Amino acid sequence: MASLTTQLIHAGEPVPRIEGSVSMPIFQTANFENGGEETYDQVRYTRLNNTPNHHALHEKLAIIEGGEAALVLASGMAAISTTLLAHLQAGDHLLVQKTLYGGTHTLLYEDLRRFGIHFDHVDAGRPETWKDKLKSNTKIIYCESISNPLMEVPELEEIARFGREHGLLSVIDNTFASPVNFRPLTIGFDVSLHSATKYLNGHSDVIAGAVIGSKAAVKKINHAAAHLGGSLDPHACFLLHRGMKTLAVRMKHHNESALRIAQYLAGHPKVKSVNFPGLETSPSFARARRLFSGCGGMLSFELKDGEAATFLRALKYPVTAASLGGVESLVIQPARSTHLGLGAVKRAKAGISDSLIRYSVGLEDPADLIADLEQAF
Ligand code: PLP
Repeated sequence: MASLTTQLIHAGEPVPRIEGSVSMPIFQTANFENGGEETYDQVRYTRLNNTPNHHALHEKLAIIEGGEAALVLASGMAAISTTLLAHLQAGDHLLVQKTLYGGTHTLLYEDLRRFGIHFDHVDAGRPETWKDKLKSNTKIIYCESISNPLMEVPELEEIARFGREHGLLSVIDNTFASPVNFRPLTIGFDVSLHSATKYLNGHSDVIAGAVIGSKAAVKKINHAAAHLGGSLDPHACFLLHRGMKTLAVRMKHHNESALRIAQYLAGHPKVKSVNFPGLETSPSFARARRLFSGCGGMLSFELKDGEAATFLRALKYPVTAASLGGVESLVIQPARSTHLGLGAVKRAKAGISDSLIRYSVGLEDPADLIADLEQAF
């Protein structure tokens, strides 16, 4: 089997090429002429995510992440909410990692609660504590491959094993690691999700989501997606498809550059702490080394003193903006942006201080980014 770098370029491409077109043409249509369809699944309507643009992406994603099937959706949150709503009903319960992307946390805390779906947090680094949280109605165990914004790598093999042992669907948000660095299905996870807005697309110009899993799991999610309606527009499919072709080369640069910057920050007298699983001092280092082929471009750090907001303003290259995984470096203060909705008490409990800075290392030359940090210090 060809390597992932090669599969990113060739897997899922139509054979023969459509009109010989080397790049995937955009099927910008809402519907297709009927051709004798006999079942609902055969109806070709763009809300059902079944244009040639969708098919090509589904095959490429399934192959690179080691799944039987895949589905693209309108956003990372559409991937998360559709997967959960497809597999849960009123009265069900889930176990979720303590620190999660803020949007996922709010979905669980506010929206799913209203539908009678409840959850308990688990400490993803302490498997011995999980069984106590298990209930007879627990259906899903949910985590992130690298948590946001503290960059912790959970006991991932244990989570997949716990799910299997107790008949739970194990679901992982693999956005931060990307399939280049980690393929969760290969260690036993049932469903892997992405905000494709981030590394998969990589250019900060598309909002998209992806789900990869077994044929049965993806079929169930696809069925719910058809009615929940979060389909991906064909033009967004085209952009995501184009972006994904360079994922391997981009991730190589992100991996190397973030490691260099994390090492620089860890040695800086004005830095209190650095969160990056590729640093030997990180509590996640051994797990990351065992499971990942690189740690990606996301890191966070705390200043010893001084205002995080003032420091961000002094930086020349990174754009202060939410989101991550783009070609340009991006910085934010999680307490004032992605995790603002959590409130001060929950943020403190989750270990997210006001002086924490999250840095999405882009594709600039790392020497320039380090010089920029130095002048800001
Ligand atoms: N998962 C993670 C880890 C994220 O960081 C984000 C967005 O920042 C999402 C999911 C949601 O993705 P989207 O904004 O594409 O809906």
